[in-house]
This record gives sequence, structure tokens and C-alpha cells, in this order.
Amino acid sequence: MPNLALGRIDPLTLTLAPKSQGIATPSISPLLVAVLQTFPEPVYLKDRSHRWVMVNEAYCDYMGHESEALLGKCEGDMLPEREASLAWENDEAVFKTGSSTLNEAVAARDDKTARLLQTHKSILRDGDDNELLLCVIRDLTGSDAASDLLQGGPAGDDKPALRGQTKIRRLGEQSVRFAFSDPLTQLPDRRAFMNLLDVAAARVAASSAIFVINIDHLKLVNDRFGHSAGDTVILEVARRLRASIRANDILGRLDSDEFIVLADAIDSMQTDRIADQILANIVDPLQLGQHEYRISVSVGIAMFSGHRHNAEELVRNARMAASWCKRRNRGGSEFYSDGASAAAERMATIELKLPIALEQGELVVHYQPIVSSRKRNVSGFEALARWNDSDLGELFPQEFIPIAEDMGIVRKLGQMIIDRACEFTASLANRRLSVTVNVSGSQLMDETFPIFVAETLQKYDLAGSRLFFEITESVAMKADASVWQVFEELATIGVRLVIDDFGTGFSNLARLKELPFVAIKIDRDFIRDLPNSPQDRAIFRAMHAMAKELNLKTVAEGIENALQEEFVAGFGVDYFQGYRFGHPMPANKLKRYTKS
Ligand code: C2E
Ligand code: MG
Ligand code: MG
Repeated sequence: MPNLALGRIDPLTLTLAPKSQGIATPSISPLLVAVLQTFPEPVYLKDRSHRWVMVNEAYCDYMGHESEALLGKCEGDMLPEREASLAWENDEAVFKTGSSTLNEAVAARDDKTARLLQTHKSILRDGDDNELLLCVIRDLTGSDAASDLLQGGPAGDDKPALRGQTKIRRLGEQSVRFAFSDPLTQLPDRRAFMNLLDVAAARVAASSAIFVINIDHLKLVNDRFGHSAGDTVILEVARRLRASIRANDILGRLDSDEFIVLADAIDSMQTDRIADQILANIVDPLQLGQHEYRISVSVGIAMFSGHRHNAEELVRNARMAASWCKRRNRGGSEFYSDGASAAAERMATIELKLPIALEQGELVVHYQPIVSSRKRNVSGFEALARWNDSDLGELFPQEFIPIAEDMGIVRKLGQMIIDRACEFTASLANRRLSVTVNVSGSQLMDETFPIFVAETLQKYDLAGSRLFFEITESVAMKADASVWQVFEELATIGVRLVIDDFGTGFSNLARLKELPFVAIKIDRDFIRDLPNSPQDRAIFRAMHAMAKELNLKTVAEGIENALQEEFVAGFGVDYFQGYRFGHPMPANKLKRYTKS
């Protein structure tokens, strides 16, 4: 046992940050420093500002820098940005919690070779009671387990790591604990995955694929069933994804409702097969408390072959394909292609700009006249959202409402429309005129919605009878007890409900009878080819007869010409709406329609 008595240590051999580097030299026992110096493993000490205050020789070798270059600096000064910020956050977590951590992570060095690192970090206090972070690094790259892990070798059984108690298995089995794993699923989170992808991109020669799997309507699940139900869905999706991909494929969690898979050495046919397998496994119903819930996901895929793409670009492409898929083919899968990218780019721009536009009042409301067939006068207006953006041009609700829904801002948008529509209607001299506003399913799931409506009516001193809400047939048919409650509360303040786009869903007649609606709007799809199309004539006749049977008023949408008008009027339709009677237009262009 060597004598490590204090007096025998030459302070000059200690690699501590000197005063001249502008940081306080920590008062650490020279004995401790000497011990750390002799460690064969890389060791460092950092101060609370994350600056190295002591580094041993092994750490200098490992970093490829002299101690003078490191002392007083942070990782941010020496390492690529992402790696540095990973390290910073990891260290910060140790400082904040004060508890020791043992992590394994795959990291890429300058030469792009992958290393498997095990780091042990803990907090020490120096003589002045300042916190210092002690880190010991074990480089497990040379171990058998690590070479399996990093080179994608044959699947193996558990192999003990070279040192330490942690068992390391293949990455494909997700049993390596990542420095930044998602706490819920234990999968690598975005940063860990991106780091890993950098490593993979550097060594993958054959083609690989990235899948981004986006859970549809997760926000609705959280809102309706609570966050623990949302967590159940996420965990179940993770489980089903793992069961759908190959043992060597790597699964990670990219975002709250987004998973990512890296599949190495794969062709497009195998890629297709995995996407199909994911979709097939995901559809099984899941029990959420009393409810049976069907999960749906949209899958975006980007393929790459080695050097052509960097990791970030690939992930971006796969995400774009997923959000493209969400609009066009929800519940399916889409490959990224350059052709689709322009549209996806536009969508991404909308996602970026929409919340700001909403905040800054760039969304406006246009009004389209609704005409009584009996009196041939305007009975009211439908409020339709519009957005004119300097880059994107004029946008129609069909494009931005679904995006607002996905982003969870449709309630706010809807409130703005209701507010404007009530203000507009209250300003009309003719008190017979009413306004109808489209409301989406998620607005109805908000139990405070009727309160907001009542307050808005009061704000503008508008009678509830002058406001109608249009609800699409498919949303109306799905109404559950809580939505039903909202319907009833709206009825008590005098607001009436209309079924929009009638004929496009699969209405259950008995259900239709129960719902508190006063009118149906026959979708313009069924009007367009009237009176020439025999099928549409028959459909129109049947729908109209059914509405009358149920004692509902009827509105024919999309009337563009005299022949259409004549045909629907012949059946006794109550109201017309369409370009023949007026386009949607801003409030200040409506003077000729609003005279008493
Ligand atoms: P919708 O409620 O069925 O609205 C009627 C749509 O048909 C409007 O399109 C209107 O401009 C269009 N239209 C009216 N007359 C004619 C015609 O004679 N010919 C043709 N070809 N089209 C006609 P718009 O404004 O693009 O709205 C599309 C849909 O977006 C609406 O369908 C509605 O479901 C939804 N929407 C619009 N505004 C809002 C809103 O504020 N909130 C919500 N949640 N949805 C909205
Ligand atoms: Mg409508
Ligand atoms: Mg409609």
C-alpha cells in the first residue's frame, strides 16, 4: 500500500485549473486528486458552471487534448453541439438532483466511430462546500457485448459487460439504458436517438429506412379519458411497434405522440412489410377503462443509402411523410418522395404560422347568405373561416382546420369565429337574421363550451335563437353522453343545431331521431349533378323524404344554377345556399343582403 500521506504529494503534479484561467481553484484534498490521477479510467471534476477543474491523464487521452486545453473550459467549447448539450443536460441533472447516476450511451467521436460509454457521475463537495461533479468514464467499446451492439453482429444472449454490474444486451432489445431515455417507455428519447442515428449513419453502407409513427388523436384521448389513459395508449403503441419490427431495428420515442424506428439493411419491399405489420398490429382494440378504444397511427417512411443523407434530414423527411400521411391517408403509411415534399413543406409552414396568425387576428370570417325558398329572402348567413397569408396566399378551412385540430388549437380558433359571428349578427339592423357557425368535434368535447357560448351571447346582447351550430353528420352520430350534455345545455340557452354535410356519413335512423337537431344540410356532393344524374336524383329524394319524416328543416348546399334550384325547390326544400345566391364574403360586402 503506497503511502499517500499529504506531505508527500507534490502539488505541481496535480492537474487542477490554475487561477490564471479565471476560475476559482477548488479546494480539493490533494490526496483525492492524486488518487483520481492514478485511475486508469478517464476521470474529471467539474464545477457548478460545468467547467473542468480537474482532468486525469486518461481523460486527456480520451478527449485527445492536453489538460491545459481542457481546464476552465466546458464541453460546449470542445464537442459538437448536440453531444455537448447532451453532456450538459446530463451533468445538470446530477447537479440538480444531487444523486449519482450510472448511464450507458452510444457516442460518436470525431472520427465518427461509435463508442459505448458507461459513465458514473456523483456530486462531491470541496473544502469550501462548493459542489463539484465527479465523473468516471468506462469505455466499453472493446467488449464483446459492445461490439455486438455497435457493429450489429449476430443476436446473442445476455453478455456481461467488461466491468461494472450492468448487463448489456443488444441494442435491438432496447435493454441498454440510455442517458436520455424517455421515462415512460424507457426507449431512447429524441436526443439519444439522434445521437445514435449519427453513429449509424456513419457506418451504414447498405440502405436503411426511418419510420416515423405518429399516433392519431392522442390529444383527444388525453382530453377525454385523462393523461393516464394517454400513457396507456403510448405504452401499448410502444409494445405493438416492438412486436412489429425486426429484432435488430431500433425503436425510439421522438415526441409525445411520435415514435421512430431505424431499420438497417433493408429494401423497400421489407420496408413495406414492416409498415403493413405495424398497421395490422395497431388496430386491435384497447380497453381504456369502460371504453374500447381503437388506436390509429400514421406512418411516414424515408429510405437512405449511406452517404446521401444526414440523419437529421432523414428524420425530417420521415416526419414530413407522416404528417402528409395524416392528412391524406390517416391510419395508413406513406413513403417520403420529393414530389410530396412541396405539399408537406406547405403543411409544415401552416403548422408554424397558424398559431401566430390566430394570435394576431389574421384569421377572418366570411359570411355566405342562406335564402328561404318560400319567401325568397335571406334568412341568415353561414360563418366560414378564412386566412390570407402573405406567403401562402388565401387559405381555405379544409386546409387549415384539420391542422388546427391536430395542433389542439381548434377550440381557440372556434371561439374566435363564434365571437366574431355573434358580434356581426348583433350589429345587423334586421333582427330576423341569424348566423350559423361550424363547430368541430373537439369543441363539443369541451364541457365549458356552452358557458363560453352563453357569455358571448350576453357580451353582444344577442338572443340564442339567432345562433345555430352546424355539426357534421359523422360527429353527430358519434356523440356520447358528455357531448349530449353539451347539446342539452346549448338548447337551454336557445341555440339550435343543424347537421352539416348530410348524406356523407352513415346515419343510423333511430339515432338521428334522438338527436336534438332542427335541420339538415344536404351536402353539395349530391346537388352538383342534379338534375341530370338519376342516382343523385334518387338519393336526394330519399334524403329529403327522410328529413321530412323526422320533422327536420332542409337546406340544400352548393346551388350554383337555376336547374339545381328548380329541382330542389320542387321537393319543397326549405333553404338554399350556394354561389347562385351569394359567395362567402367579408361582413362589409353584405349590405345588400342585410336590409330589413
Ligand atoms: P361546409 O360547412 O359544408 O361549408 C360550405 C362550403 O361550401 C364552404 O366552403 C363554401 O364556401 C362552399 N360553398 C358554398 N356554396 C358553394 C357553391 O355554390 N359551390 C361550391 N363549389 N362551393 C360552395 P369553405 O368555406 O371552403 O368551407 C369548407 C368547410 O370547412 C366547411 O364546409 C366547414 O365544414 C369547414 N369550416 C369552415 N369554417 C369553419 C369554422 O369556422 N370552424 C370549423 N370547425 N369548420 C369550418
Ligand atoms: Mg357548414
Ligand atoms: Mg356542408
